Amino acid sequence: MLFFDAHCDILYKVKSPEELFSNTHHWDSRRALSNGPFIQVFSAFNESFPRNIAKIHMEEQINTILKAERDFPDKLKLIRRKEDLEECCEKLSTDKVYGILEAEGAEILGGSLSELKRLYDLGLRILTLVWNYDNDVCDSVAGQNPYNGLSDFGVEVVKEAERLGMIIDVSHSSDKTFEEVMSISSKPVIASHSNARSLCSHKRNLADAQIKMIAEKGGVIGINFYSDFLINTGNAQILDIIRHIEHISALAGISCVGFGADLDGVETLPQGMTGVENFNDIIEALLRLNYSEDQVKAIAGGNFVRLMKKVL
Ligand SMILES: [Zn+2]
Repeated sequence: MLFFDAHCDILYKVKSPEELFSNTHHWDSRRALSNGPFIQVFSAFNESFPRNIAKIHMEEQINTILKAERDFPDKLKLIRRKEDLEECCEKLSTDKVYGILEAEGAEILGGSLSELKRLYDLGLRILTLVWNYDNDVCDSVAGQNPYNGLSDFGVEVVKEAERLGMIIDVSHSSDKTFEEVMSISSKPVIASHSNARSLCSHKRNLADAQIKMIAEKGGVIGINFYSDFLINTGNAQILDIIRHIEHISALAGISCVGFGADLDGVETLPQGMTGVENFNDIIEALLRLNYSEDQVKAIAGGNFVRLMKKVL
């Protein structure tokens, strides 16, 4: 079974490309591939202050993954074109992990629209507009909301990114940003690592109406494994991941559900989970609940792969 995880923050935790293959964090390729063939979205992410050097931090992380790909071509390959994705789906390798590059925050552009093309050429295929602070593109759900949605620059960024063939990711967007993105986007939009707000009331999660809008446009929602986004008490079990899968698929169809575990970006995982090695436990739990093989394949990776094939 081919897995696709739409969000992981391991790049900011490693000091060298070698560490991506084996480490003591949530994610390494050895443990990812123990589940089966695996496509991992690698996030370039900035936690550091001051915010104006975010771009430097994020570019360092991009350099780490590019170096890993150059130095270890047998172990890692980035998906840039449809052919790369097709190769991955054909070979179903459990020796080589396939990656997709994502930036978690449009501050990586440093305010310049032309940076989108340069980053696209390096391999960036998913642009998460914002993280936990407002940037010059839009308001964050955790920010002060200076733009009441997208800035003028943000409107240009969304349009240009879609023109280039990058997917827009609305996880972390404010509700108003979400609304504006949905009204101007012409391609499927994803929420790479967000859950259902009606099951866990955190603002980072999606309202039912938002889930439906994403699905209607052909987008996919990646279930986040962070305990605080799974259940209000913060004391989550693997079955809470399944509750969110069930809610979202009942609301908007099973073809809009995938995984976006947020590994190495969260402090706590559901009881019994230690990292990426536990993906198969969720699959087994779904099969025990009488999900069909086809449904489980769609959730594990098929839905995101379908979307990526379309966009690439
Ligand atoms: Zn995030």
